[in-house]
Amino acid sequence: MTRIFTANYLVSGDAPPIEGGALLAREGKICARGKVKDLKPDFPEAEVVDFGEALLVPLLINAHTHLELTDYPKWALETGHTDEPAGFIDWILQLIKIKSQLKIADYQASLAHGIALSIASGTGAVGDILAHHAVRTAYQKSSLSGCLFLETLGHDPAMIQRLNNRLDIALQETIDSPVKLGLSPHSPYTISAEYLKQIYARCKRDGLRCTTHLAESSEEVDFIESGRGPFASRFYPQIGWENYIPRTSFCRPAEYLEQQGGLFPGNLLVHGVQLNNTEIALLGRKQMHLALCPRSNARLNVGKAPAGKLLAAGVNLALGTDSLASCESLSIWDEMTFAHRWFSGELDAPTLFQLATSGGAKALGVENQLGSLSVGKTAGFQVLRPETPVAENEIFDYFFSPECPRDIDQIYHHGKPQLSGQHKQVTLK
Ligand SMILES: [Zn+2]
Repeated sequence: MTRIFTANYLVSGDAPPIEGGALLAREGKICARGKVKDLKPDFPEAEVVDFGEALLVPLLINAHTHLELTDYPKWALETGHTDEPAGFIDWILQLIKIKSQLKIADYQASLAHGIALSIASGTGAVGDILAHHAVRTAYQKSSLSGCLFLETLGHDPAMIQRLNNRLDIALQETIDSPVKLGLSPHSPYTISAEYLKQIYARCKRDGLRCTTHLAESSEEVDFIESGRGPFASRFYPQIGWENYIPRTSFCRPAEYLEQQGGLFPGNLLVHGVQLNNTEIALLGRKQMHLALCPRSNARLNVGKAPAGKLLAAGVNLALGTDSLASCESLSIWDEMTFAHRWFSGELDAPTLFQLATSGGAKALGVENQLGSLSVGKTAGFQVLRPETPVAENEIFDYFFSPECPRDIDQIYHHGKPQLSGQHKQVTLK
């Protein structure tokens, strides 16, 4: 079936908005783009779907999330852990306590819930981290693209052997879904240097993407540099890792990661809040991608990532919500609006929209499919229907208004509508 999708404005993400713009989609791909009045005579066989006073906008990319934790707020209530943690270490310890009371079925339902919420909020691809590999089947038949990173961490060599065996099994099984499997060595503070080296070598050898939390908190910097601070005095003893506290490395987190072979573009870094100028320049030279999670960083009070300096150094930036254990929603529209205030003066509205679309797509290696509404990419877009029509020069202001995320009227993935119910479209032959 060949269809022309049109609306008041087409905001493609790689060119100025087109008034009366349209996409021609065939077999889930964008085959042509232009003004509807020009496309119709060229493709008389196409069915025309006219959304009227609406905007066609690219799907957004959530480059960092943990969708298996989507039901975390409910779990926190049920287990009586509703007190706000005093700091980063308290937050992780609380997370471990709550997770210890869950069953695998809880994660399965939570992940399915997270996938549905992501799609409904206009997300087309995710960089999703999964600690409970068995529940990856929730992605079966899902239309979400991106990477599903299987998480691994630890220090004990016998346990690492068991973890590697489990990864081998998980990586051999394919899922009927556009998401590709990758690995997530959690962070330099939760995995031994030797295991980190092994994982990065494996990803480079097998062409697997990976992702690593890096320089999220000042506690992490202390721990990596000196083997001291609250990770050594509280976190490691409380989880039975007191024998694995590392020696002083005299390295900043990014330098430490480079020593383990972790600075290559296929390793998507996350957070980067505590990076100093030397580390920023290093990430730029290595052509790294980094997912910023401003709402999570604000909630955990770990600081603000040096976003302007990272962009200037040539690091490709993306946006992520992180999980609902440290963020209020899985909407990248919400993340963009918060980031606009949080990075005020450093990142303007068009730049943030680019982070949420093409920046995220590049970070996940899906830039040939998503990130803009360009010919050759997948026919995945959002239909936004503002209460009052938006003029061309108001479009970016509208994107960063509180109303915008609520105006999603329909979502298309691979040329197919994802939301049921009544929508204000007119279909003409
Ligand atoms: Zn995370």
